[in-house]
Amino acid sequence: MVTADLRPTQVLVNEQAIFENIQQAQRLAPHTRIFAVVKADAYGHGLLRVARIAHLAKVSGFCVAVLEEALALRQAHFTEPILVLGIVAPELAPLAAVHDISVPVGDEAWLKAAEPLLAKADTPVLKVHLAVDSGMGRIGFRQPQAIAKAAAFADAAPHLLVEGLFTHFATADEADTQYFDQQSARFNTMLQALPKRPRFVHVANSATSLWHQKTASDMIRFGVAMYGLNPSGRALPEPYPLKPALSLVSQIVFAKQIHAGDAVSYGATYHAQQDEWIGTVPMGYADGWLRRMQGFSVLVDGQRCEIVGRVCMDQFMIRLPHEYPFGTPVVLVGTSKAATITLQDVADYASTIHYEIACNLTQRVVRRSISRL
Ligand SMILES: *Cc1c(COP(=O)(O)O)cnc(C)c1O
Repeated sequence: MVTADLRPTQVLVNEQAIFENIQQAQRLAPHTRIFAVVKADAYGHGLLRVARIAHLAKVSGFCVAVLEEALALRQAHFTEPILVLGIVAPELAPLAAVHDISVPVGDEAWLKAAEPLLAKADTPVLKVHLAVDSGMGRIGFRQPQAIAKAAAFADAAPHLLVEGLFTHFATADEADTQYFDQQSARFNTMLQALPKRPRFVHVANSATSLWHQKTASDMIRFGVAMYGLNPSGRALPEPYPLKPALSLVSQIVFAKQIHAGDAVSYGATYHAQQDEWIGTVPMGYADGWLRRMQGFSVLVDGQRCEIVGRVCMDQFMIRLPHEYPFGTPVVLVGTSKAATITLQDVADYASTIHYEIACNLTQRVVRRSISRL
C-alpha cells in the first residue's frame, strides 16, 4: 500500500514513552523476562521502530502473531528469541526452525506432522511452547493426559524441544478475579502433568503483569501497556502511570464559510444553522478513522471542534469557531494546549477498545518518531 508521506496526516510515535513503559514493567517485575509484543505492526506503532526501542530497553525477546512478522524481525537482524503466538501450519515448521523462531503447539497431531518435515529438511531443533487452554477457549491443550503425551512425544523427537508452556487469561483486566483464579488453577494442573518444567513458563499479558503480579511467571508478554495504554480501558487503575506513545495529527487543508441551510458531506445530513466556518481534514475511513466518528470532536488550537457530516473515505469536515487558515494543526489523538483526546476517548465514542482503534490505522497513514532514542 502507498504510504501518504507528503500529506500532513501522521501518526507520531513517542519513542521515549515506549522505552519508559518497558522500564516501568522491568522495575515492577525485576526477575521476570519481558517479551515485547510487536504483533500487528506493533499495534499500529511500526514493527521495526518498536522492536528497536525494545531492544534498546534490553527486553529478553519478542512476541508476534504470525510467522511473517517473526521473519521480518529476523530479516532486520534482531537476534533475540521470538515467539509466534498464533498457530503456524506444520508445513512451515522447517522455516521457523531455520530462523530460530519459536512456535506454539496446541495438540500432539501438530508435533507428529512437523517432526518428519524437520527431519527431512535436516533443520536445527524447533523450539515449541505448549499452549494450554485454561479457559480462553482459543488454542491449546485442555487435558493433562493429552499434554503429558505430547510432551513425551516431543522429548523423544530429535528435532523438537519443548521450550515453553503458556496460557492466556480471558479476564485479567477485570476487577472480579474468580474466572482468573480458575484459569490459574487449571494451568497449574497442566504444569504438574509435565515430566519436567520447560525453560519458559508464562501466563502474563499486560493486564496480568499489572494486576496479578503474584501470579508466577517466567516471562511477561508485554503488549498494550508498552504502548502506554491501560489494558482494562477505564475499569482498573494503573499501578504505575502509563505513557501513551501514539498521537494522531493532521492539518486543515481547506476552510470556507457556509451559510444557514448549506449542507456538508454525503447524504447532505448536516445543515448549517447559521454562518459557519468549516474546515476539511485529510483523513478518512480508508485511513482507519471510522465512519462512526461523525459527531466526535478533534482539537484545533486547544478547542474541541465537532466532526460534521459523514466521514468520507479520505477526508472529513469539522466546524470551526471562526476562520482558520489552511495549514492550521489538527489533533485527532493527543494534546493541543490544555486539551487532550486519548485513544480511549476515541474507542469509547466508537463503542470499541483502544486496541482496535490503534490497529485500524492503515498503512496509508505515515508513522513518524518523536523523542527519538
Ligand atoms: C496479544 C497477546 C498478548 C499481549 O496482550 P496485551 O493485552 O496487549 O498485553 C499476550 N499474549 C497473547 C497470547 C496474545 O495473543
